Amino acid sequence: MSNRPIRLTDALHDYLLDVSLRESDVQKRLRAETSGIRGARMQISPEQGQFMGLLIELIGARRTIEVGTYTGYSALSVALALPENGKVVACDISEEWTSVGRRYWKEAGVEHKIDLRLAPATETLDGLLKDGQTGQFDFMFIDADKDSYDAYYERGLKLLRVGGLIAIDNVLWGGSVIDKADRTKDTRAIRALNKKIRNDERVSVSMLAMGDGLTLARKR
Ligand code: CA
Repeated sequence: MSNRPIRLTDALHDYLLDVSLRESDVQKRLRAETSGIRGARMQISPEQGQFMGLLIELIGARRTIEVGTYTGYSALSVALALPENGKVVACDISEEWTSVGRRYWKEAGVEHKIDLRLAPATETLDGLLKDGQTGQFDFMFIDADKDSYDAYYERGLKLLRVGGLIAIDNVLWGGSVIDKADRTKDTRAIRALNKKIRNDERVSVSMLAMGDGLTLARKR
């Protein structure tokens, strides 16, 4: 036994899913369709979707923001966990990818909870702030272009209420965060944000070794 996260062999991962995953038929089919298209690795895992649903329930979230919707699995998972009057403001720039999600949102009966905004996310977030939405959101999921992570995080901190939660995906970036030879702008952006959040007194924080690394930051 070690105090490190357990190494998940394929068999152990299958077991984890077998005894814990509760995935609806619509979620399964969305995942299956997405696995066949370009950029499929951008889709979150079903256990992460379920985890985010649990977070939504835990904090009693009603109003949420997602930056990076792709084909809509995370928005679907969050929307399914939200109360009937809950909302996801879903930010993405791809009509092609989000149109896949739209079909499944409708089928799952949560279409009315998802407000898709096709525009650069910083513009959408700035629009919300300008519109007097400061402190009006409970939860934010950041999973888009890494170069802009800090911009999304800063806007998220403004848009969230005290006690609201930001979840940030890919914070271990396939391990490249510790590869000194990797000087690409995405990797540098993730490293810089990880370091910044570590010392950010505005939030309580925990970094989970889930998927490709998931940081949870709760606004104080
Ligand atoms: Ca991701």
